[in-house]
Amino acid sequence: MSSFRSHALAGLLFGLPFISNVFYLFFALLGASVPDLDHQNNKHKVYSMIGFGVVLSVLLFFLNGDVLSGLVLILLGVIFYFSRHRGFSHTLVGIVVLSCLFSFMFMGFVSVLMRLCIDFGVNVPFSSIVFIVMVLIGYFVIHRRYLMLYILALAVYLVLFGFDFGMFNWYVVFGMFLVGGLSHLILDLRTPAGLSLFKPFIKRKFHQKMALFLFIIWLVVAVGYLVYFNPLI
Ligand SMILES: [Zn+2]
Repeated sequence: MSSFRSHALAGLLFGLPFISNVFYLFFALLGASVPDLDHQNNKHKVYSMIGFGVVLSVLLFFLNGDVLSGLVLILLGVIFYFSRHRGFSHTLVGIVVLSCLFSFMFMGFVSVLMRLCIDFGVNVPFSSIVFIVMVLIGYFVIHRRYLMLYILALAVYLVLFGFDFGMFNWYVVFGMFLVGGLSHLILDLRTPAGLSLFKPFIKRKFHQKMALFLFIIWLVVAVGYLVYFNPLI
């Protein structure tokens, strides 16, 4: 099994060509960490996802009635509760679905918190709201050993550089979750156990050759993206 650290580094590397702002790399890091939530050692995180989701849904129901993000958190917890290791979250369909759900939950919680601040007349900077939501997601997906480092890096970045609502590109948030997830699959494909990458359509396992094929696709897309969208080239 590849370590959390190698998955984190691969996620950052794979996300790098596509970003206009270093801040988005935090989402690639989260995306690269998501698939291994299906590991037996992370069952306690899955239980806390469901628990937090229920508490937040009830709170939001009474505060402003917008419970959707809380329900998505419960749904994610239920998905991982029923997932066996290297199952759904280690397939292409899985990382697309999970990237959608995580980005949707992130955007949902950010909007809900912004609305609550307005409703209660509290002036909280947008970057603080983003920080709170990203710490919540990080709490579930980042390895315990690196969680404080993640929170510290996030806090330092937001204090030094900030992040305004107008700067946010929600498509890039989704893209970073996806690219991070893809980097995770490529690393796991290189292990002897391989992955049933195309489940539920194809059940057989894929190994090194598929890892190389996906890496080449990433490389072509990354170079193409840099050539067409990077003003420096
Ligand atoms: Zn994995």
